[in-house]
Amino acid sequence: MIPFLDLAQVYAAHRQELDAAWHRVMQRGWFIAGDELSAFEKEFSSFTGTRHCIGVANGLDALHLVLRAWGIGPGDEVIVPSQTFIATWLAVSWCGATPVPVEVDAQTCNLDPLLVEAAITARTKAMVPVHLYGQPADMAPLTELARRRGLKVLEDAAQAHGARYRGQSCGGLGDAAGWSMYPGKNLGAFGDGGAITTNDDALAASLRQLRSYGSVVKYQHDLAGFNSRLDELQAALLRVRLQHLASDNGHRAKLAAEYLERLQGVAGLTLPVVPQWAEPVWHLFVVRCADRDGLQRWLQERGIATQIHYPVPPHRAGAYAASHADLHLPVADAWADQCLSLPISPYHSVEQIGQIAEAVRAFFR
Ligand SMILES: *Cc1c(COP(=O)(O)O)cnc(C)c1O
Repeated sequence: MIPFLDLAQVYAAHRQELDAAWHRVMQRGWFIAGDELSAFEKEFSSFTGTRHCIGVANGLDALHLVLRAWGIGPGDEVIVPSQTFIATWLAVSWCGATPVPVEVDAQTCNLDPLLVEAAITARTKAMVPVHLYGQPADMAPLTELARRRGLKVLEDAAQAHGARYRGQSCGGLGDAAGWSMYPGKNLGAFGDGGAITTNDDALAASLRQLRSYGSVVKYQHDLAGFNSRLDELQAALLRVRLQHLASDNGHRAKLAAEYLERLQGVAGLTLPVVPQWAEPVWHLFVVRCADRDGLQRWLQERGIATQIHYPVPPHRAGAYAASHADLHLPVADAWADQCLSLPISPYHSVEQIGQIAEAVRAFFR
C-alpha cells in the first residue's frame, strides 16, 4: 500500500527534537502565550520575510480575524475564488460580509486577475487570493488592481508555506496573510494551529488584541475579542518542523518533477501548470481527467491511496447552496468533477512516485 499521507512519519523522522520540545514545555509549566509562541512568531516572520507573525488557533481564525480587524462586516463584499477549501468563504461569512466568488483560472485553479475587476462593486472591501495546492496566485496584477480600487488583499496561504512568487515569499505579498498549521499542511502542527503574517504594525497590534479577548494587558479588554491562540506545545513542536520545512519542500519539489516527467504526454490527463514566476511548494499534486472516479478506483485497486481536493465547490456546499442556487460557476464545477490528488509528501520516495506514475499511465493505455 502507498498511503496518501502518513503523519506518524513526522514523529518517526524527528522524534528526538520533538520529544525535547515537548519536554521543555511540560517542565516549564507555561502553556499559553509564553516563550515558545514568541520564538515561533519571530522565526516564522523571518522565514516569510514579514515584520509580524501572530499565532492563532487555526487557519480559519487567521483569515477571519484579519477581516474583522479591517472592520469588514454586514453589507460588505469580499472577493474569493470560486474553487477553494470552504474556509476561505467561511472567514468572510463569519464577519457578516458576503463572499463574492470569481471564477478561478482554468489552468491553475487560482484567482483570475482578469475576472476580478468585473466583480468589484461599491461594497467590495477586500479580496482573498488563495495559493491553492501550494501554487502561488498571480499576485502582481491582483495587488495593482487592489491599490487602484482601494481594496485590501488577504492571502490565504494555508497551503503555501515556503512558496515564492517572483522570488518573494508568499505571506508578504498582500496586506496580510492567513496560515493554517493543520497537521496535513506543509508546516503542520500536532493538532490545530494557525498564524497571520503582515508588514502592517497597526494591524498586528489589533490582531494581538483580537486573538486574546480584546486584551493585551491582563483584565483590560478594549475590544470584544475572541479566544484564538496558538498554544505553547504546538508552537514548540512547530519550531522543530519549521527547521525542516525547506528540506521537506525540496523533497516535494523533487517528487513533483518526477511526476511531471513521467506523466508528460499522457493523452487525457491534465498535469499541474507552473507559471514561470512561480516557485510552488507542492502541498498537493493535482491532476485532472474526465473519468476521475475511474482513475481513483483503478489506483485504489493497485494499493495507491488518492484524495480529492475538493469534490464539492463552496457554492454547492450545504452552507451556501440555497443562497447561491442560480450561480453559474462552470470552471469551479469542472475542477471539482475532474481533479485527483496523487500522493506527495516528504515521506514518499522517488521510487514510489515512479510506481504511481506507472499505474496512472496503465489506466490511460
Ligand atoms: C486548511 C485550509 C484553511 C483552514 O485552515 P484550518 O487550520 O483547517 O482552519 C483555509 N484555507 C485553505 C485554502 C486551507 O487549505
